[in-house]
Amino acid sequence: MEISFAGKRALVTGAGKGIGRATALALTRCGAKVVAVTRTQDDLNSLVQECPSITPVCVDLADWGAAKAALEDVGPIDLLVNNAACANLQPFLEVTPEQFDQSFNVNVKAVLHVSQIVARAMKARGSGGSIVNVSSQASQCAIRDHAVYCATKAALDMLTKVMALELGPYQIRVNSVNPTVVMTKMGRQGWSDPEKARTIISRIPLGHFAEVEDVVNSILFLLSDKSNMTNGVTLPVDGGFLAC
Ligand code: NDP
Repeated sequence: MEISFAGKRALVTGAGKGIGRATALALTRCGAKVVAVTRTQDDLNSLVQECPSITPVCVDLADWGAAKAALEDVGPIDLLVNNAACANLQPFLEVTPEQFDQSFNVNVKAVLHVSQIVARAMKARGSGGSIVNVSSQASQCAIRDHAVYCATKAALDMLTKVMALELGPYQIRVNSVNPTVVMTKMGRQGWSDPEKARTIISRIPLGHFAEVEDVVNSILFLLSDKSNMTNGVTLPVDGGFLAC
């Protein structure tokens, strides 16, 4: 299946590392003009060095005012990937208000905010568009030490559905991908211990974690016109974890 984004402009959050970075690079290979948003300038420098056509934006998305200022003038966007997130892991009884707020600010509130900025402009242009939120299998399955992370991703799944409902009439589709563990920086932080990793792998029928490219390919499909009638879904990329 050939996917082309020639003539499209895409914005990817959390594009400095991991899944977001690979998504930004894949989108440019498919012909899109990409705006890459993250909070570490070094990551953006290396990304632009690797792919000079990418437009870098350095901002902490947890800061509503700074994000508004940084993104208001990025120009028309056709494709949005809300990928940035943090995973603050701790036992439920040890969760602090600061960790709770930081996680919800990045994983949920920033998605709402960036999507508002992008979707308002899509609506005004009457151009339609496609938005993919990067959720997780953790949105639908309890995972030890992930109380806040699971809660943010569950909130993100419902935000995805309401966005699909309200933005659909403007031909703006909104879907999520819900991966199992991927061994990025975030994945290694939670699952480097082989004993812990086994607790998840033993519940994945395919018997292994996902690769970054598995997630990127599902994102590209949902962004593309190959999924034109798909709206409001939470697509597992989990080897069957959530099915069992
Ligand atoms: P990484 O930690 O490798 O990359 C996350 C990127 O998001 C980094 O570039 C990071 O920048 C950026 N980011 C984080 N917070 C902010 C912020 N406040 N403002 C701007 N940028 C920010 O994570 P992954 O690639 O693994 O994760 C990508 C997505 O996939 C996330 O939504 C995650 O929840 C989801 N996911 C990941 C899984 C996994 O096992 N890896 C499994 C299921 C879902 P910096 O490094 O500078 O903080």
